[in-house]
Amino acid sequence: MLKLKNDTFVLSMCKSHKPVATTRSGDTVIFETLDCFSNKLVTTNHKLSDVAWSDINPATGPLFIEDAIKGDTLKVEIIDIQIAEQGVICSAPGFGVFGHILEKETTKIIPIKDGKALFNENLQFPINPMIGVIGTAPETEDIPTGSPGFHGANMDCNKITKGSTLYLPVFNDGALLSMGDVHAIMGDGEVVVCGVEIAAEITVRVSVIKNCFLPLPFLINEEKAMTLYSASTLDEAAKGATLNMQEFVTTALGMSIDESAMLLSISADLSICQMVDPLMTVRMELPRWILDQYGYQFN
Ligand code: CA
Ligand code: CA
Repeated sequence: MLKLKNDTFVLSMCKSHKPVATTRSGDTVIFETLDCFSNKLVTTNHKLSDVAWSDINPATGPLFIEDAIKGDTLKVEIIDIQIAEQGVICSAPGFGVFGHILEKETTKIIPIKDGKALFNENLQFPINPMIGVIGTAPETEDIPTGSPGFHGANMDCNKITKGSTLYLPVFNDGALLSMGDVHAIMGDGEVVVCGVEIAAEITVRVSVIKNCFLPLPFLINEEKAMTLYSASTLDEAAKGATLNMQEFVTTALGMSIDESAMLLSISADLSICQMVDPLMTVRMELPRWILDQYGYQFN
C-alpha cells in the first residue's frame, strides 16, 4: 500500500506544489502525519512561542490522484486514524477565545493509554481521533494550511473521524490532496486554539466522482449528512452551511424551497466546528434517516 511519509509535507495548499506521490481513483493510501507543531512540543518546558511559524500545521502530501480533473469531486473515505502515545495541548496569551485573559504560556502533555486521553490525575477522556487539516489545492491562490476554505483544509471538524467520508472539490488536475493536524480529541469550537494535538497515521480511500452535485466540502457518517462552511464570521459561516444544506436537500430530494426550508428548521442542527482560525467553520447536520425515507444514496 502506498504510504506518504511525514517528512513530505506542505505548509500551504497550492496548485503549483509538486506532488509527492501519485495514485489512482479507488486506491487506499496511508498518510503519516506530524502534529500541528511538527512534533516539537514534547515536554511542558516547550512553549507555543518556541515553534517557528514554518513548523505550524504541516500537511502531508500533496497526493496526485490520476483521473481527477477540474470540476470533479474527490471522495475521501477515512478508513482508520492511528494516533501516537502522547499528545499536547497549549494555551497562550493572544491565542483563541481566552487570549486576552491568559497571562502565560502553558503546555500540557497528554498521554494516551487504552483509548483514553489522560488530562490530569482526575480526568480521562475517551479519544475521538479526528483530522483537523484535510484539503485539495484551491483554484487560484496559495492558501496556508492554517486557513480553511472551499477547498477544505483547517476546518477542525470533530466529525472527520474514522468511518466518515469527506467530499472535496477538485480545482486542479490530480486534486492534490494533503492532510495533517490530527487531534486525539477536540470539542466543538476549539476555543483555546488547539485540541489534543498528536502525530498520526491516517488510512484513506480516494475516489474520483464525476458530475457530483454536492455542495462542497460535504461530510457524511452513518447517522448524519453535513455541510461545512468557512467564512470570516460565525454568522456568515452558519448561513453558508444552512444554504448549502438547502441546496443539497432541494436537489437530492426534489423539494421546493419552502418545504426544504421548513424541513431544515425542524430537523437540522447547526454546530460550530472552530472559531479560532483565520476563517470560522460551521457545519449543518441533517439526520440520514430523512434521506433514507426518500431512498437517497450517496455515491
Ligand atoms: Ca487546526
Ligand atoms: Ca490543531
